[in-house]
Amino acid sequence: MSSKESQLREQICATAKSMFDRGLTHGSTGNISAKLDDGWLLTPTGSSLGALDPARLSKLDWNGKLIAGDAPSKENFLHLAMYQERPANGAVVHLHATHSVAVSLLEELDPADVLPPLTAYYVMRIGSLPLVPYFAPGDLQLADAVRRFAGKHHALLLANHGPVVGGSSLSAAADAAEELEATAKLFLLLQGRRIRALTQAQADDLRTRFPIK
Ligand code: ZN
Repeated sequence: MSSKESQLREQICATAKSMFDRGLTHGSTGNISAKLDDGWLLTPTGSSLGALDPARLSKLDWNGKLIAGDAPSKENFLHLAMYQERPANGAVVHLHATHSVAVSLLEELDPADVLPPLTAYYVMRIGSLPLVPYFAPGDLQLADAVRRFAGKHHALLLANHGPVVGGSSLSAAADAAEELEATAKLFLLLQGRRIRALTQAQADDLRTRFPIK
């Protein structure tokens, strides 16, 4: 195994544990993947993100076939759809993060862009966030739905389920997923209050100055 691959395995497990320990996903929910030169790594099915073994991560080819390690997460098709539509992405993080899921349940959302531009970092790391319609876990129609949005968006919110976020690297994808969860929490804290989000001009200025990688 290359040292790059063993480093990436360690990084996936450390990122996953950090997220689990801070309650960003719970039980055996959530999955993290990252690209290698000869395939990609994904957290295994039924595993807790808090207790992963770097040596047992699932290694898959680009048809989603298992090359080595434990059986992959049943949500592997979400990751594959993101990589197929976003060749520049090096990693994908999917969480069942409480505040993000809560936002996905609200009536009267704009499904084209769920959250307002509350903070500069939200605009810089997420930008816009479409709501992907609900399908049952494991339903391949969910992969098709993700594919439809993924060409234009690196961050998606699955209705009644949770966020899927791609990034150029694992740290970029993880940072963006955390920014999304923090912004969803802010948005819920502010329900019923009059708020002053960034203006369209302020958000556009950030998008020009800090294009999302
Ligand atoms: Zn899920």
